[in-house]
Amino acid sequence: MDFRISEEQRAFVEVVRRVCQKDFKARAVRYLDGTWPDENMKQLAEIGVLGMAVPQEYGGSGLGILDTVLVLEEIGKVCYVTAMAALGEVGVQTRIISTYAPESIKRRVLPRVVTGEAILAICMTEPDAGTDVPSYKTNCDIKGDRVVLNGVKTLISRADIAEMLVVFTRVNKMPGAAGIGCVLVPGGAKGFSAKASYHTMGGEYLCEVVFDNVELPLENLVLRDNGMKRLLSAFNTQRCLNPAICLGLAEGALEEAVRYLRERSAFGRKIGDFQGLRWKAADMLIEIEAGRGLLYRAAVSGDPFPDPALAAMAKIYCNEMSIRVTSEAIQVHGGYGFTDEFPVSRFFRGTRYGSLGGGTTETLRNLVGRKLVEQMDLATGVLGMRTF
Ligand SMILES: Cc1cc2nc3c(=O)[nH]c(=O)nc-3n(C[C@H](O)[C@H](O)[C@H](O)COP(=O)(O)OP(=O)(O)OC[C@H]3O[C@@H](n4cnc5c(N)ncnc54)[C@H](O)[C@@H]3O)c2cc1C
Repeated sequence: MDFRISEEQRAFVEVVRRVCQKDFKARAVRYLDGTWPDENMKQLAEIGVLGMAVPQEYGGSGLGILDTVLVLEEIGKVCYVTAMAALGEVGVQTRIISTYAPESIKRRVLPRVVTGEAILAICMTEPDAGTDVPSYKTNCDIKGDRVVLNGVKTLISRADIAEMLVVFTRVNKMPGAAGIGCVLVPGGAKGFSAKASYHTMGGEYLCEVVFDNVELPLENLVLRDNGMKRLLSAFNTQRCLNPAICLGLAEGALEEAVRYLRERSAFGRKIGDFQGLRWKAADMLIEIEAGRGLLYRAAVSGDPFPDPALAAMAKIYCNEMSIRVTSEAIQVHGGYGFTDEFPVSRFFRGTRYGSLGGGTTETLRNLVGRKLVEQMDLATGVLGMRTF
């Protein structure tokens, strides 16, 4: 399989890298108190990053998943909070709107995503059910040419500043998964409120969201039949983008660790001369490269959405790999690694998000395990998974 990055991709990543290294790296600590990385988002809009998932007819560049992975990886190397903010614009919510929204909403919202004026949020998690989507209680009633939405969502990123929210809700009277669909809610809608309620260990805050008799045109109900299946296919994209941030954080941590190995002395020599620490660095690199291979392969596995099992495996591996790698980077720094003097503790805290958001690693293992056990062809021994 050919993983070579094209000249265009390389050139674009180089532009992103320059901005990240020159500006974002120094600013990263500013956003640890929940401050929105506005300045960085404006720069990302200027260099074309925020329009990556927007089709060309709405002013974006309509780039693929691998392009987006490469860019998020670059931002992740320096600033978790900015990478997460960018994910909101290049990730699943933009892709759901581009794929399923009516033309009027696409024309209104998507060009503003490209310029960074429209922030998007996705509302799935509820106080009593996160992973368990079929148990969601938020409900959308259809009344003639209007819909009325009621419910509570929690742990939602940027909901208080969003121009449009993609909301998973019950959309018909069917029980369980069959009843789940999607409604698009403008941030200014009457009856909608969002409050920054939780500060995370990564730095950003998360919101509690209430829909209290929010009345909208019927066209805002974008997925009614077979909604959950279609929404979750779109989510396979997120399962490549979330690990891209983790991959970047692991790479940023390795870079810092190697720098420290070269600079710090103990027992009359540089600590990078100790074989035990060189092996640590070597193992960190091997894990990063293994994660990169799995992730890039998943990213090119399907269009518009990647293969579910490959995306799940890439996400599980990169989420867990980056926890190990960033933790080892702290170890290499000794006691200073545990302080705010060096960025490695920040990388470790940020990457802890990966295995929780966008499908927990437990539920993704369920997905991979189910395919593996249930879909093997016993006659030929061929596994029910996409393999070489
Ligand atoms: C930084 C951050 C940003 C977030 N942003 C958003 C956002 O923008 N929008 C949004 O909707 N949500 C967001 N979330 C919420 C996130 O998506 C949920 O936390 C996640 O889906 C898990 O749901 P939960 O917290 O309710 O955990 P639960 O679903 O209650 O799970 C608890 C534990 O049980 C495990 N578990 C559950 N079911 C199974 C099973 N069948 N088999 C094995 N194990 C299982 C889980 O893996 C987990 O370990 C965010 C979370 C974080 C940390």
